[in-house]
Amino acid sequence: MPAPLEQRRALLTPIPGPRSRELMERKLSAVASGVGTTMPVFAAQAGGGVVLDVDGNSLIDLGSGIAVTTIGNSAPRVVAAVQEQVEYFTHTCFMITPYAGYVQVAEALNELTPGDHDKRTALFNSGAEAVENAVKIARAYTHKSAVVAFDHAYHGRTNLTMAMTAKSMPYKSGFGPFAPEVYRAPLSYPYRDGKEMDGERAARRAIDVIEKQVGAANLAAVVIEPIQGEGGFIVPADGFLPALVSWCRANNVVFIADEVQSGIARTGAWFASEHFGIVPDLVVTAKGLAGGMPLSAVTGRTEIMDAAHGGGLGGTYGGNPVACAAALGAIETITDEGLLDRAVELGRVMLPRLHRLQAEDSRIGDVRGLGAMIAVELVHRDTTDPDPDLARLVASAAHRQGVILLTCGTYGNVLRLLPPLSISDALLEEALDVLADILAETDERQPQVSIDQEATA
Ligand code: PMP
Repeated sequence: MPAPLEQRRALLTPIPGPRSRELMERKLSAVASGVGTTMPVFAAQAGGGVVLDVDGNSLIDLGSGIAVTTIGNSAPRVVAAVQEQVEYFTHTCFMITPYAGYVQVAEALNELTPGDHDKRTALFNSGAEAVENAVKIARAYTHKSAVVAFDHAYHGRTNLTMAMTAKSMPYKSGFGPFAPEVYRAPLSYPYRDGKEMDGERAARRAIDVIEKQVGAANLAAVVIEPIQGEGGFIVPADGFLPALVSWCRANNVVFIADEVQSGIARTGAWFASEHFGIVPDLVVTAKGLAGGMPLSAVTGRTEIMDAAHGGGLGGTYGGNPVACAAALGAIETITDEGLLDRAVELGRVMLPRLHRLQAEDSRIGDVRGLGAMIAVELVHRDTTDPDPDLARLVASAAHRQGVILLTCGTYGNVLRLLPPLSISDALLEEALDVLADILAETDERQPQVSIDQEATA
């Protein structure tokens, strides 16, 4: 068993160090180049709020492996549950010889997802696979085929979910033709919509597009991330989501909340849908569900979930017993350790600090998000024009200074802060100090400091 990780940022070598460089060489000659990496370093161990690399550098984790290790890496209950399960059996296939863990995860999700109606759950492996299955279920229920997704949406990299994802490069370009019957509606994006476009108007705009270009008679499902992930952590204006839900209900259209990134305690609630007072027909979960093990789910109204015929849903590995054991450990951790509150607290550490930075720096166009899902949208000074170069520069400077920082957004100009809920306030503050320093150093009004020299000095 590895020694407990010291919770500190420590750079023993330049980033990347010699072992990471060597592994990167091997990666380049062994791994398909389409599989990119954000960080130039290879991981050796991770936990709490840090990732230790193979050269002994300890990095502050603001990414949680893209919002997956919400309860922290190798969280004790997940480790114990996984260890115990692998000793008994690693796989039987739930469709062949079922096991209790799968049923327990389904029961937990039926309980935790919004609404107290009767629910059923089906388990899968990845977020994209679960989104695809939610669409299959909605089509089986409604006997209709069209699907509406939104501007800036991200739903995955499989064929149907590529069609549903908005951004061409890098997710779709060159990989078509895409699945048919997928239509796109405008989102509520308060920073870019302007004040007069409140949530209800934005919903009206979207519904107009849907009614004119698709027609409720053809539409099986509206699929939306209640807070968008890759698209830029866009929080829709109040009233937008409830109006869409009402329209769906009135028109026999299944409302599917893709909570793959925003769900499972990330925003300070079990599901981001709760912040908007909506009860989706189907909820898609993945990422944070199983503490880093691959597991995803579709949970929703029994009459909809049960519309698919027997044998129509499933897959060899879906709801793998080790992943289910991990999920039960993760859910218990969130409940017993009060992690919903912890997510709120982390938001209280990040937001005021970032708002102060914004007040002094007009390149910070918008600071938004809920709980431990916070974004900083960067723009050219005194405009709202996206500045992806600045986002790239800030993120790579942060990496060299020992902070794992991710970007996102249709324009690539958004920094996203997704710390594990196991990070200490002190480490999070330190990461914010690094971010503030980098922003000051990249400010052309300040004396220029070369980030390359700075980082490797
Ligand atoms: N939906 C959303 C909202 C996501 O953020 C992601 C992953 N970033 C997916 C779907 C796809 O999940 P996966 O990568 O597990 O297929």
